[in-house]
Amino acid sequence: MTTLLWFRQDLRIADNPALNAALTFGDPVIPVYIFAPEEEGVWCPGAASRWWLHHSLLRLSDDLHNHGSRLILRRSSDSLGELLALARHCRATRVLWNRRYEPLITARDRIIKASLRDEGIEADSWNSALLHEPWTVKTKSGDPFQVFTPFWRHCMSLNDPQDPLPAPTRLPAPIRWPSSANLDSLELLPRVDWAGGMRSVWVPGSSAAHALLERFLSKSFDGYTALRDQPGIQGTSRLSPYLHFGEIGPRQIWHATRQFALARGQHTTWRGAQFLSEIGWREFAHHLLYHFPRTPEQPLRPKFARFPWRRNDAALELWTRGGTGYPIVDAGLRELWHTGWMHNRVRMIAASFLIKDLLINWTEGSRWFWDTLVDADLASNTLGWQWVAGSGADSSPFFRIFNPTTQASKFDPTGEYVRRWVPEIAKLPNEWIHEPWAAPATVLDSAGISLGNHYPHRLVEHDIARREALQAYAAVKHANNG
Ligand code: FAD
Repeated sequence: MTTLLWFRQDLRIADNPALNAALTFGDPVIPVYIFAPEEEGVWCPGAASRWWLHHSLLRLSDDLHNHGSRLILRRSSDSLGELLALARHCRATRVLWNRRYEPLITARDRIIKASLRDEGIEADSWNSALLHEPWTVKTKSGDPFQVFTPFWRHCMSLNDPQDPLPAPTRLPAPIRWPSSANLDSLELLPRVDWAGGMRSVWVPGSSAAHALLERFLSKSFDGYTALRDQPGIQGTSRLSPYLHFGEIGPRQIWHATRQFALARGQHTTWRGAQFLSEIGWREFAHHLLYHFPRTPEQPLRPKFARFPWRRNDAALELWTRGGTGYPIVDAGLRELWHTGWMHNRVRMIAASFLIKDLLINWTEGSRWFWDTLVDADLASNTLGWQWVAGSGADSSPFFRIFNPTTQASKFDPTGEYVRRWVPEIAKLPNEWIHEPWAAPATVLDSAGISLGNHYPHRLVEHDIARREALQAYAAVKHANNG
């Protein structure tokens, strides 16, 4: 008898419940990864995610090799067909995996589980990706939560998540391995190599994830609340892509944080750590996506469906390229393009600018992020965009409109972040770095900048754009259907 272990967004061998379950049978285990983007519809992995996935599969394959095993790869548009064919070929009697929560994937997996069972193949799934699965967390009236604070308070009142499972020492191998597709044949890497920026900042894989977590705990955990909003410094963990691909799991993060805090005598305070509550936001995002599966495309609050968005392809293009004339917005979009990641505070500022200064539908921005982020995650991306638009659960109200200049002065006071990503204005003194349009001509001259040549004029004036946004909002705000 043989067990197929179907890897998906759980690309690690430690704390992997499906892998652990596979080992309990004592039969040979055949690990398989099927790249089937067609089954994910419009939310199939974007270009940056594919780059990450390629390297992550490489690392997982190495890890499995070091544990006496292999990773069998498949490229297909029919995961069920591949699993059935592989099960027949290897005489496998069971297929085990860890769950995902995106609407198309949960529907597909339900069919796969039932079909495998119909064929007499045991099929079972586990939770590797969340502290608490969406259907296990409910309000007193049995509904899903729509406000973060009571959601997280409720999660904290539940039993602590299980201790993470250790990595196995060895995986039992079959006598004969099935053939595998070559990793390159999955064509995850870009044809024209634009990934140099990502290579220079990221090392995908579980070992790198744990090294980052250790670095974060020892260097940034204490100052996290104060420094997490400053994009110029590395005050956050940068674990988001690793969490998305399951190279590290939230249980591992939870317990490492707990151990770290307890070792320093923080016996009563560690559960309230801001860092853990950010992991809570990730949980909340999954909770919302599971219970409100249309939210990647539609506002959760129906009145926003009638919002008078503008169509402005030229402005959208300038936003994506980091050419809006607002340095903090441009810095964020350029960081994203270059590294596949953007600091959370700047994600909020850049998203607010697209939605409220340009009045462009948030779904345009979420799609751009989807293609360019290495941590693109349907749950968190949807939550982030709907939060900024004011159309989601527990969102920032629409009328609270970020002023990009004051946000920049507050969170990038010395202009370090802007200078890094918008080098053409780096010589401006701090006073003008976030608003070059307001700088006196002599200052621009001595910094060697001619606006409109070296750096663009402002695409819109924020004060005027803000008034227009509030007028647009007035058209929907009195609707009484949410
Ligand atoms: P840390 O501050 O170290 O936080 C630790 C972990 O908590 C993160 O890795 C992440 O998994 C989780 N987390 C932190 N903040 C949030 C949040 N606001 N929502 C959900 N989870 C959070 N995050 C993604 O992982 N994928 C996305 O596609 C994504 N799109 C976003 C789009 C917008 C418009 C906004 C405003 C936010 C988005 N976020 C997304 C959330 C957040 O920006 C990133 O998770 C965070 O910047 C990752 O950096 P970090 O790992 O250093 O976070």
